[in-house]
Amino acid sequence: MARTVAKCEICREWIDAERLEAVPGTRLCREHAEQINQYGGEFLTVAREDRTSKSGSLKINIGGVTTERVPNQKAMDQLRDDYEMQLDDD
Ligand SMILES: [Zn+2]
Repeated sequence: MARTVAKCEICREWIDAERLEAVPGTRLCREHAEQINQYGGEFLTVAREDRTSKSGSLKINIGGVTTERVPNQKAMDQLRDDYEMQLDDD
């Protein structure tokens, strides 16, 4: 069976398989996923209203709201800065 593997974008360590299964699309190892929470988390949830009615149509469509998870790039950048500063301290 094929396994999904990925490396942490911050420290380049392998992300463990259970974490990848639990959080598909993650780009952070467990440690950095915890650290990024102080910057608002790894992902942002954006809501978008579905537009299903055409203008002029007599049919009334009740549009739903689609939520989408997008990477929180700003938080990622801040976390990377932190990580690089820590490396300089050593
Ligand atoms: Zn990491």
